[in-house]
Amino acid sequence: MIPFTCSKCHKEKVKIHGQICVSCQIEKIEKHSPPKDASNEELISYYTEQRVLIGCRECGARDFAYEAGIKIENFLKYFVMFIQCKCGESYMDLLEVREMRLQDVGIEESE
Ligand SMILES: [Zn+2]
Ligand SMILES: [Zn+2]
Repeated sequence: MIPFTCSKCHKEKVKIHGQICVSCQIEKIEKHSPPKDASNEELISYYTEQRVLIGCRECGARDFAYEAGIKIENFLKYFVMFIQCKCGESYMDLLEVREMRLQDVGIEESE
């Protein structure tokens, strides 16, 4: 069987013809990093997608269970992700720290 190579970098092996390898996928997603004014939901979906591509820090599996959320401390928002992998590893990953904005405490900015 001839191994297929990534359709982008032509270096890494992939399982399906025309697929792009994980490092190219990560590179692609990182080019679309969320803007400064991204919403909490946008940030969470961006980072969870990225972390799933990177895989479990212990075994590299990408089909782990996770839960993402925001912790607020000292006017900072900590975006965190709890990962529970079937290899037995479970850990918390800090995704991003952002300053709180007015809309985060339910106050609408006046025009
Ligand atoms: Zn590639
Ligand atoms: Zn694992």
